[in-house]
Amino acid sequence: MYYNSIIETIGDTPLVKLGKIAEGIKGTILVKVEYFNPGNSVKDRMAIKMVEDAEKAGLLKPGGTIIEGTSGNTGMGLALAACAKGYRCIFTMADKQSQEKIDILRAVGAEVHVCPTNVAPEDPRSYYSVASKLNEEIPNSFYPNQYDNMSNSVAHYETTGPEIWKQTEHKITHFAAGVGTGGTICGTSKYLKEQNANIVSVGIDTYGSVFKKYKETGEFDENEIYPYLTEGIGEDILPKNVDFSMIDTFVKVTDKDSAIMTRRLAREEGLFVGWSCGAAVYGALEYARENLKEEDTMVIILPDHGTRYLAKVYNDEWMRAHGFLEERSFATARHIVS
Ligand code: PMP
Repeated sequence: MYYNSIIETIGDTPLVKLGKIAEGIKGTILVKVEYFNPGNSVKDRMAIKMVEDAEKAGLLKPGGTIIEGTSGNTGMGLALAACAKGYRCIFTMADKQSQEKIDILRAVGAEVHVCPTNVAPEDPRSYYSVASKLNEEIPNSFYPNQYDNMSNSVAHYETTGPEIWKQTEHKITHFAAGVGTGGTICGTSKYLKEQNANIVSVGIDTYGSVFKKYKETGEFDENEIYPYLTEGIGEDILPKNVDFSMIDTFVKVTDKDSAIMTRRLAREEGLFVGWSCGAAVYGALEYARENLKEEDTMVIILPDHGTRYLAKVYNDEWMRAHGFLEERSFATARHIVS
């Protein structure tokens, strides 16, 4: 038994019950561990779908170049697809992203352009603008544009949603996921709500992002936009993949609460996951504490793996420098004594 290429191993990730972290909360809390995908993140699912849909539509031809603005995980998925199918890859990234993410993309043969984080999306230096300019300049190039490319949501409608429905034996009552492009939460929720219209979808947003306010007021409020650190979720634009009718409510989570919960997931549950996983769990549990009943089942998406955050949330010095960790770690304290 073997797979014809690494891209055939995408999907069918496990659901795991949360233990200690979910103690005292009514209902069953399950996490879907997306680092089991070959690129170690949920984004493999939509990356391969965008590439294959583009091939079918004649937008991506043999020998072509894939160009995308990515926080790293989509890039990894696209790079794997490009390796398997023989395309060149160029990525633009904001400079707040982990160095590990840049290094990993280069390791799998991609070209990476690092762009400033704190400029407006329409600024020519932003990673959105640089990606679209490269696309204009390079012949036979394809710009998937994960924000507005609906293959993104469709990938989750076709894979993540059905997997969760089957794995929970139709018992899921609540679904929670961080919102970046919106593909994961909207595609998955659409499938789940078609099976059972009562399923509640909870979006996790960051402070400094526009989603929660937009859902509540219908207004795009510039005052909501300010820099934050959590990677992969929250936006200063409204991507087409965010269908607000698919998200029932939003919970905002701070960088600090997300970072501390990420470390707890690793140490208390053995789930060595990324920073937005801490955000998703913190926000989802806040909602669950208030709203879940004993018979309810909530599924939370954990988008990626911890290796990409070793120099950040898993680093005591970095955590202390950001005011996220007041206590000396056990390891450091022991070192000082000896
Ligand atoms: N977490 C991480 C680490 C991500 O890379 C992304 C993708 N931007 C998300 C969460 C959010 O997923 P989506 O884009 O499908 O909303």
